[in-house]
Amino acid sequence: MLSMRRSTVKSSTDVISGILNCVCPECGGRMGERGQEYRCQGECLMDWREIWEQASAELGTRSKRSARRI
Ligand SMILES: [Zn+2]
Repeated sequence: MLSMRRSTVKSSTDVISGILNCVCPECGGRMGERGQEYRCQGECLMDWREIWEQASAELGTRSKRSARRI
């Protein structure tokens, strides 16, 4: 049984900038070492990989759309 928990709603920008800075968007903890970049080593121990992928896809779509606007 897979249930998508959406208790933590972070904006895509928050997630992306946090992970790029090696800071967990949720608890502010340190992100993992090489190979574990999406795994929080802080309090929440969250795996951000799926959220990261969704967020980057979302932002990618948005930027494409806005780039189309003439
Ligand atoms: Zn965390």
